[in-house]
Amino acid sequence: MGRLKRIGIFVLLGSIVAVLFSACQQRSNDQRAGYSMGRIEQRLDDFAETHITYDRSLLDNQQMEVMKNLYLAAVEMDSLFLEQVYAGNEEIKAELHRTQTDKAQLTLKLFNIMFGPFDRLDENKPFYGNQPKPLGANYYPADMSKDEFTRWIEAHPAVRDSFTSEYTMIRRQNGGLVALPYSAYFHERLAKAADYLRRAAAASDNPSLKRFLQSRADAFLSNDYYESNMAWMDVRDNTIEVVIGPYEVYEDQLFNYKAAFESFLTIRDPEESAKVARFASYLTDMERHLPLPDQYKNFSRGTESPMVVAQEVFTAGDTKAGVQTIAFNLPNDERVRQAKGSKKVILKNICEAKFNTLLQPIASKVLSPEQLRDVTFQAFFNHTLMHEISHGLGPGIITVNGHKTEVRQALKETYSTIEECKADVLGMYNNIYMIEKGEFPASFRKQIWNTFLAGIFRSVRFGVNEAHGAGNAIIYNFLLEKGGYEYDRETRTVRVNYDHIYDSVKELARLLLTIQAQGDYQAARELIDTYGSMTETMKDLTAKLEGIPIDIKPVYEFQEQQQSAQGGEAR
Ligand code: ZN
Repeated sequence: MGRLKRIGIFVLLGSIVAVLFSACQQRSNDQRAGYSMGRIEQRLDDFAETHITYDRSLLDNQQMEVMKNLYLAAVEMDSLFLEQVYAGNEEIKAELHRTQTDKAQLTLKLFNIMFGPFDRLDENKPFYGNQPKPLGANYYPADMSKDEFTRWIEAHPAVRDSFTSEYTMIRRQNGGLVALPYSAYFHERLAKAADYLRRAAAASDNPSLKRFLQSRADAFLSNDYYESNMAWMDVRDNTIEVVIGPYEVYEDQLFNYKAAFESFLTIRDPEESAKVARFASYLTDMERHLPLPDQYKNFSRGTESPMVVAQEVFTAGDTKAGVQTIAFNLPNDERVRQAKGSKKVILKNICEAKFNTLLQPIASKVLSPEQLRDVTFQAFFNHTLMHEISHGLGPGIITVNGHKTEVRQALKETYSTIEECKADVLGMYNNIYMIEKGEFPASFRKQIWNTFLAGIFRSVRFGVNEAHGAGNAIIYNFLLEKGGYEYDRETRTVRVNYDHIYDSVKELARLLLTIQAQGDYQAARELIDTYGSMTETMKDLTAKLEGIPIDIKPVYEFQEQQQSAQGGEAR
């Protein structure tokens, strides 16, 4: 008995010690929970608030009515994406709204920029609370492993399509996994957005725009986006250019399967659009000129690939989170791309805002001074154009081990990084090709190289855990190794070596395109693991950029007008 008692006392003492220990641990956990006030303020300073205006004279009253309804539909995309990012988002947002401290208000501001409590500029570290962000965002159960998903599909082959679909949420049910269509899972908000799209369609007198808006409204309810993606390619409106729905798969870092809701509300810049349409006429030539064996070249894509330059009026959802998009190339559906090509929209007002606020100051810190004069907005803008064109080049539907598949499916989570890297490398390669074709003067060559090099440091500051940043890290490290770039330890600057740059860019292009053509997942993984991280000289150079904003935080004139017209907050 005594003995037992003693044991009992020991057990009791032991548990008190354990309680005390866990209390200490909890306290230190609380201290680690989220960012300090100073760090929140610092992060907010990384986003330079920039007023985004638009040319109202391009819209008549009828078109203004269309835009108002599109705006209201777009606002729903904000709320849908917020839920896709993280299961706890609504609760955290309400909590921050309730808490009246300065810190809570600043945290809420950052939460709104990031669409959640995770720092998109620092590997998704939680800046509020201490829960890590699930790799698969809220698309999958937070505790589901990659392996569990894969084994479930192997055991139930009939569910493969619905599980890997871009438009389903994966949830646990009765001890197993199920795929729920967006149309059911998000029914209420999608029905509301569909309603606004129908009102916008009714207000428009443009048949092709009407058709897209009506079919997209149908898609929100049927979960079948094919027809409306086709209709989007057929829109022939010279003013309103709108994107709304589930599109990019970057947020799904587990598989890159699930599409995030977003919206771009833009109006066309007629002069610039006419100018860039000329580039599209070179698509077939550019495909032929790729550094890739002929057997892998892809001439079966639709040749109808319009490119549009637009003014951004408002954005919502995925695209608005964290870093701002300067251009997009949609749709992603390979069947539509085969049939009709893809449409590229370049947001010139956002490009200009970024060049002035970010790229110029960055270039002056990292580039060798004598190469600085070759950093120009013209080169920045043309690279953006060519990056988007290049997404439409190279392998799309491929054959791996006798099976027909898409590059996207074969490369799994490495796909986005490889594809973005390819578009950047080919962006340079094809602009050089345009010099050969006489579209640019020979003097433009240095501007292409130097402006891109400076731009790398704009991209990798976003972190290399995201497709664009990782792609830029690969380019920098690969070209440095091959002698295309040179780092000067004494001045802590980097320069282009004009003798080696072209060959090293071509070599990397060949490598990326071959990985895509062969659907070689292992090679993709290897390339990213070898080159896609922050190396010593990159860290050294990015350390010099402290104090320069990392991106702009757009404040939309149009939204302010809509909110004041409604007499308050829109959401
Ligand atoms: Zn891209």
